[in-house]
Amino acid sequence: VRTFDYAIIGGGIVGLAAALKLAQKRPDAAIALFEKEPELATHQTGHNSGVIHSGLYYKPGSERATHCARGRRELVEFAKTHGITHDICGKIVVATQKEELPFLENSFQNGLANNIEGIEKIGPEKISEIEPHCEGLEAIWVPCTGIINFRAVAEKFGELFKEISEKNEIIKGAEVTDFIKSEDKTELITNKGKYQTRVMICCGGLESDRIARKDEVEPGVKILGFRGDYYDLSERGRRKVRNLIYPVANPAFPVLGVHFTRMIDGSVECGPNAVFTFKREGYGKIDFSLKDTVESLSYGGTWKLFKREWKFGLDEYARAFSKRLFLSRLRKLIPSLESQDLVPGRSGVRALAVSSNGEMVDDFKIKTQGRSLHVLNAPSPAATASLAIAETITKKTLHL
Ligand SMILES: Cc1cc2nc3c(=O)[nH]c(=O)nc-3n(C[C@H](O)[C@H](O)[C@H](O)COP(=O)(O)OP(=O)(O)OC[C@H]3O[C@@H](n4cnc5c(N)ncnc54)[C@H](O)[C@@H]3O)c2cc1C
Repeated sequence: VRTFDYAIIGGGIVGLAAALKLAQKRPDAAIALFEKEPELATHQTGHNSGVIHSGLYYKPGSERATHCARGRRELVEFAKTHGITHDICGKIVVATQKEELPFLENSFQNGLANNIEGIEKIGPEKISEIEPHCEGLEAIWVPCTGIINFRAVAEKFGELFKEISEKNEIIKGAEVTDFIKSEDKTELITNKGKYQTRVMICCGGLESDRIARKDEVEPGVKILGFRGDYYDLSERGRRKVRNLIYPVANPAFPVLGVHFTRMIDGSVECGPNAVFTFKREGYGKIDFSLKDTVESLSYGGTWKLFKREWKFGLDEYARAFSKRLFLSRLRKLIPSLESQDLVPGRSGVRALAVSSNGEMVDDFKIKTQGRSLHVLNAPSPAATASLAIAETITKKTLHL
């Protein structure tokens, strides 16, 4: 049986960043990373919006706020050093109705408390200077927001991780299905055979709660999949958006709201919405998994969440199936947008950690037990913050 000092489960951006940081700190160790898919970054990392988040919205002092700020700066340095295409193009968060102004002010004050560099309140004139087709009453200009391809970043982490030592390995197409624990080792059972490790670091994204339970660690949450659908702007529509345009975040809703995002390849996406999915890794509108559905719907927390957020949930469902409704929301930001400016795009699925009383866990959540570490909740901005999260993971596991 092959034996490693550290085994990392999950080849998304968090697992790969952890592999790199750990290898840098322990170049003498043998580290393996297991990914169940044939390629790295197949799930959340490969399906996100590609935004280097500033950290405007997160509660001051929270793990998300601190890790986002540190991770963002480190990510931009990393991208510069390794020639990964990125663009710190800035974004605007736009209030289009009077009722939104207090929420805009809240976000601005939050941004100041989080020391987001260069944020500024701007009026209609400056809004149309930055985004000529956007109409708003007031906005926040966030100059340090940027765009990048997180799959390319994750792959680079993996490449550098392997270069540090010949003993380091990335084993793709290897799903870890069980663990056999003994005094000083854990045996990993995979479809590609058995492996042994002294320390285990689990970064399974949409599967994180299941992996924890298999390791006899109580996650205290259930992961629910929330699909986000995007539309692409057609050639004609693309002329109406320069960079990133966001609506004001309403604290009553669990997500940021559909926004316009220029991607690093030059395309422009609008979305994502957020609808409960019946399959954790299901990217189609009618994808279904019996196992995932039964597990989600037999969990009390799911029903408590549905009961509280039913109106929001129904609205999102309607928009998932109606282009007209999706467009009407986007038109609040760009009134001249027309149906032929939108073409159906891709989807992504967010892992939403929900507690048994139906609360969505906002902040990053990491739990260590024995010689295992489990990343149980790594929602947005975990891609932006990945290097900072990896630093925390390394600190927590080096002494195990
Ligand atoms: C629609 C959407 C938009 C987003 N936009 C942004 C954004 O603009 N900016 C930002 O910073 N963040 C964004 N995020 C959040 C960000 O993408 C995630 O927080 C981040 O990718 C999480 O990385 P991860 O490694 O934890 O998870 P994942 O990328 O999901 O990786 C987990 C990996 O574990 C593997 N795995 C699971 N179980 C096993 C097993 N048993 N054995 C082996 N391997 C296993 C999976 O196959 C997967 O590859 C967005 C997310 C979504 C879904």
